[in-house]
Amino acid sequence: MQARQADELKNLFGDRLSLEVETLERYSRDETSHLQAMPEAVVFAEDTQDIARLLRFCTKNNVSVTPRGLGTGVSGGALPARGGVVLSMERMNRILEIDTDNRMAVVQPGVITGELQEAVEEKGLFYPPDPASLDSCSIGGNVIEGAGGPRAVKYGTTKDYVTGLEFVIPTGDILRVGGKLRKNVTGYNLIGIMIASEGTLGVVTEITLRLLPLPAVRTDLLVPFESFRKAAHAINEIHKTGITPVVIEFMERRALEIVETYLDSKLPVPGAGAYLMLGLDGPDPETIERDYERVGDVCLENGAVDVFVAETTDMKERLWKTRRSLHDALHHLSSEMEREDVVVPVARIEDLLMEVDKIRTKTEVEVVAFGHAGDGNVHINLLRGKLEEKVWKAERKRILAELFKLVISLGGTLSGEHGIGLVKKEFMPLVASSAELELYKRLKQAFDPAGILNPGKII
Ligand SMILES: Cc1cc2nc3c(=O)[nH]c(=O)nc-3n(C[C@H](O)[C@H](O)[C@H](O)COP(=O)(O)OP(=O)(O)OC[C@H]3O[C@@H](n4cnc5c(N)ncnc54)[C@H](O)[C@@H]3O)c2cc1C
Repeated sequence: MQARQADELKNLFGDRLSLEVETLERYSRDETSHLQAMPEAVVFAEDTQDIARLLRFCTKNNVSVTPRGLGTGVSGGALPARGGVVLSMERMNRILEIDTDNRMAVVQPGVITGELQEAVEEKGLFYPPDPASLDSCSIGGNVIEGAGGPRAVKYGTTKDYVTGLEFVIPTGDILRVGGKLRKNVTGYNLIGIMIASEGTLGVVTEITLRLLPLPAVRTDLLVPFESFRKAAHAINEIHKTGITPVVIEFMERRALEIVETYLDSKLPVPGAGAYLMLGLDGPDPETIERDYERVGDVCLENGAVDVFVAETTDMKERLWKTRRSLHDALHHLSSEMEREDVVVPVARIEDLLMEVDKIRTKTEVEVVAFGHAGDGNVHINLLRGKLEEKVWKAERKRILAELFKLVISLGGTLSGEHGIGLVKKEFMPLVASSAELELYKRLKQAFDPAGILNPGKII
């Protein structure tokens, strides 16, 4: 950015713009291990007009703009790969309305996901998408990454709840599409195009979300299995019962050991090859009890050592704290790591996990698997640990190529929720034909003719 352009931005945004080195440094990273890209300025938008003004200026002056929610992304989406301006949405953080009659919420994008959940639950309503980062990520970031979470097994992901959006495209035009509508097939599905667009097509400034009635009762189970294989197999057997748990999370033994050491707290269950964390909800305690007994029996018939029911709030909180701390625990163990979030059809999850178990036997890299196995989406983490840079780079590349080939052969794809961003774009040709990639480019051109919005991501 030229000095003149920085001055003009200062005039436009006053103290909503920062050029301070400390601020630039802070906004040069997100949660993507080892990636950094310095912005030249950070703008803290306070309303939609700020964003329209900034995008018009940047399109006219050919300056890159990278939108940023709360910087918890793990594919490098919020990193300003080509410098320019980081556009922070953190000050646009108001819940504008919780409409109990229509069961809808209208929010600004910077609202923290967990805070929205608490606010709607106070009114007896329920916003199900629950990324493990829910205490620190924004709803805007969730929409733009298509975020999911453990509850996706029963309730789907963010995309299943967005019914309306206001967004600004790089020309500065403000669009309002959809609304508090349960049905809407008017024109092209621009909401669908914006979801998971990773901040490359437009900046989301207001979101309307569908809410559900809050389920009356919820129970969580922790089920240790004799072996990795048996836990993987049990996932499909649970699906065959016809009961849809809210959550089926898989955690191999090593993952639990790492997180227990990190939290310095042990769960009261025996050591085992792998664990399933299950959640069930329903209208009354009798229904839940019937369902969890059936699911528990299926687990025991398929190699579970025991079935622990988290009866108390304290036990439920400990379980979820353990699950949500996994990322930080792995990061603590190895500051550099590769977090893959491949997804396969649910019935192929056992095949995926067993093949990943084989991959680990052929490498010095530590491979740790956990995640939302109940919806086919597992996090395969490669930890660098103390490996020499040369060995790590070569092994990382070899394992990823093997993993992605495997996933594609099982009918799966590269990312279930974290997005492509910077970290996986080199692999896009494995899953998208040249015709598809060409269409992406033309779509990008239609929204962003000057190519200023979050350049260098996805393709
Ligand atoms: C510990 C941990 C656990 C996680 N668990 C999960 C999980 O279970 N499920 C899951 O899906 N993800 C998970 N994530 C990833 C991350 O939290 C999600 O991708 C989340 O949606 C990012 O939100 P954010 O506000 O931090 O966005 P950011 O990281 O700031 O940005 C993400 C992308 O969205 C764009 N963006 C942000 N706001 C806007 C906007 N208003 N308009 C246009 N573009 C915008 C950015 O340019 C960027 O491309 C986890 C991350 C961590 C660190």
